[in-house]
Amino acid sequence: MTESQSVDAPEAPMATPAPPARGAPGDGRSAETMLELRGVVKRYGDFTAVKGLDLRVERGEIFGFLGPNGAGKTTTIRMVAGVLRPSEGTLLLGGDDLVADPAAAKSRLGYIPDRPYLYEKLSGGEFLRFVAGLWGKDGPEAEARGDRLLELFKLTEWKNELIESYSHGMRQKLLISSALIHQPEMILVDEPMVGLDPRAARLLKDLMRAFVEEGGTIFLSTHTLEVAEALCDRIAIISEGEVIAQGTMDELRAQSEAAGGAHLEEIFLKVTGGDAMQDVIEGLREAIQR
Ligand code: ATP
Repeated sequence: MTESQSVDAPEAPMATPAPPARGAPGDGRSAETMLELRGVVKRYGDFTAVKGLDLRVERGEIFGFLGPNGAGKTTTIRMVAGVLRPSEGTLLLGGDDLVADPAAAKSRLGYIPDRPYLYEKLSGGEFLRFVAGLWGKDGPEAEARGDRLLELFKLTEWKNELIESYSHGMRQKLLISSALIHQPEMILVDEPMVGLDPRAARLLKDLMRAFVEEGGTIFLSTHTLEVAEALCDRIAIISEGEVIAQGTMDELRAQSEAAGGAHLEEIFLKVTGGDAMQDVIEGLREAIQR
């Protein structure tokens, strides 16, 4: 069987996140805010990749994070995932401070990175068991959940095969399964559609929708503007480490002063200086003329 033959419509229960933990009464934080970034800065030596980001993602929404190459998306996502430490600022996940209390904050999170690392010498089933164990969930319930996820992604017959024999798309599906194994409240997704065949991409979109319908939250970085436009409740566009536009599609249209009905691509190009692209295209045209 090829993996492109493999995906059926998802069933919502698999995507069910854990019930959200509420902020303590009187602690001054909104129980509805899942992720908050306050003045977040990331410096690599002398270079400042992220310049004082303020963002708020509410529970139950799909928040899109867009920007040109090198804008600082992956850096930001890696800080939210707790992989990179911010140089300045505060990151709160469900009210828990990621720097001060990383274990509590990270337990709320499933992370699907753009460049995943998978243990090649484990089988898919062993890998899921390993990840569940990291979250302290290694009983029959986690095993059943893992099996259900593998079934959903049509990986069951690959469960006992080593990951080194998996295709790129199969690895991606295994990774998505591993991010859902501990029933996170929020999933953080960096470039989710890369390498997925159309059926798997559709499954992932449906899964994301089911996940938020059940109260989960998604923070999604993508270059696929159609995906962002179709899926996201709100979008932030980042360029050179700063948010340059933020809001719902309607609000973005207003901010970019684009005519009504503008697609995200036009808005994106406009706010990220895409007008200059015409010159590049003209230059390229001249360069390739014989
Ligand atoms: P892309 O869409 O191309 O993946 P991005 O928006 O995810 O880009 P980042 O990967 O966050 O961008 O990079 C932001 C900036 O920080 C870039 O200029 C990049 O070269 C720089 N950068 C990223 N990681 C490092 C690092 N470890 N050391 C030095 N500079 C880095």
